[in-house]
Amino acid sequence: MLKSLLIANRGEIAVRIIRAARELGIRTIQAHSAADTSSLAVRMADEAINIGPPHAAKSYLNIAAIIDAAKQSGADAIHPGYGFLAENAAFADAVEAAGMIFVGPSGDAIRIMGDKVSARIAAEKAGVPVVPGSGGRIEDLSEAAKVAECIGFPIMIKAAAGGGGRGIRIANTEAEFEQFLPQAQAEAQAAFGDGGLYIEKVIAKARHIEVQILGDGERAIHCFERECSLQRRRQKLWEEAPSPVLPENIRTKLCASAVALAEAVHYRGAGTIEYLYDDATHEFYFIEMNTRIQVEHPVTEFITGLDLMREMILIAGGARLRHSQKDIARKGHAIEVRINAEDPAKNFMPFPGVVCGLQVPGGPGTRFDTMLYDGYQVPPFYDSLLGKLIVWDDTRGNAINRLKRALRELEIGGLKTTKPLHLLLAEDEEVLEGKFHTRWLEPWLEANAARLER
Ligand code: ADP
Ligand code: ADP
Ligand code: MG
Repeated sequence: MLKSLLIANRGEIAVRIIRAARELGIRTIQAHSAADTSSLAVRMADEAINIGPPHAAKSYLNIAAIIDAAKQSGADAIHPGYGFLAENAAFADAVEAAGMIFVGPSGDAIRIMGDKVSARIAAEKAGVPVVPGSGGRIEDLSEAAKVAECIGFPIMIKAAAGGGGRGIRIANTEAEFEQFLPQAQAEAQAAFGDGGLYIEKVIAKARHIEVQILGDGERAIHCFERECSLQRRRQKLWEEAPSPVLPENIRTKLCASAVALAEAVHYRGAGTIEYLYDDATHEFYFIEMNTRIQVEHPVTEFITGLDLMREMILIAGGARLRHSQKDIARKGHAIEVRINAEDPAKNFMPFPGVVCGLQVPGGPGTRFDTMLYDGYQVPPFYDSLLGKLIVWDDTRGNAINRLKRALRELEIGGLKTTKPLHLLLAEDEEVLEGKFHTRWLEPWLEANAARLER
């Protein structure tokens, strides 16, 4: 069992990690940048250490500074949260080399499953269907053009190291493909430090459905699926469980394939296997694995009653999985909406500022995970996520009613947020019927621009 944990992240997820650690009696040390000195996580943690200037490259991405801070504070483990160094195999290795525990899978597991090309290969080996595409990384243009021709346009050019919806381009023709390839390579090199690319067929009107996994290195279990099809620029805005469209026999197959893949790579910790699902043909295709806790994990916590953060910390401390598959049951319906500091009426322009008149929703089946407090200055340097509103109820319809009620209770003064967008979505006929896919929201935003301005 761990005694002390350094948190190498910020925002709402740092607060979430501190809460789970405290319930386990683990001492918490918050590593923070100079811009986060007055953050809620710093206030809540038992200890706090400044690891560098606001710019993430000098603080939250600074491996040497984080390891130093952990040693200095006597931490026996480091939790990376999501984003930043969470899927950085070199970081996981460095933590272990320094004699501490990385709360996540081994560096080798991250190298296999965190790289999107080698993960595709691992999925195929485990018998999991993947999106038709290149067998490996694209090495030369003429060979890639042949593969593209064979798959058929439109195709997606994706960065092997991509994440957060970045590093993806669509080519509609061979000419576009030849034009985009070098650009995509340069961009991936600049954004992720790895110019590796691969190609995939575009699955039209696909739905994004992912499976939550817990593994202890030997055995893995699934905690059912989440559907995250309501996206803008390939970033999730609304996530729910169960999927409103997945038939039970397909759910069983999908979840079993995720367990098979996790066990094939001896996965340890919490992870998510993402798929695209075509609800006309009932086909599903592996797209990637996130080898970390995900933003939308509370949705699964609501329907299963598990505390995923606690489980991942216990596993990192050396525990075996405490549950067998038959212990994991689901009940009711949960929905999460992301409240970002962005103005949906102005093309989601970032809107940092000082929070005032904060009113957090409460009541039955209502959870608001946030780092906000009155007087908090949202720094302009990082992700715009302010909080996640998660609701649970017995049916999807009731959960949506509860979501609307809780959204109306939520007040965040001083900033523009995505709350008005979610209120409109919760009233939308197609959303109520679950009739959407990953390319549904963007045209909807154009069609509803005037309503968002009001
Ligand atoms: P989730 O998969 O948990 O839904 P997101 O895709 O929204 O998460 O990403 C969560 C955060 O992590 C975002 O801030 C995103 O920009 C960041 N992120 C995810 N993957 C990467 C990556 N490969 N490189 C850099 N940042 C990433
Ligand atoms: P990231 O690492 O940025 O999360 P993903 O591979 O998970 O990248 O893809 C992000 C989103 O892009 C998916 O949720 C989906 O909306 C879209 N997408 C990815 N691959 C495809 C594809 N082959 N066809 C259609 N849409 C795709
Ligand atoms: Mg993804």
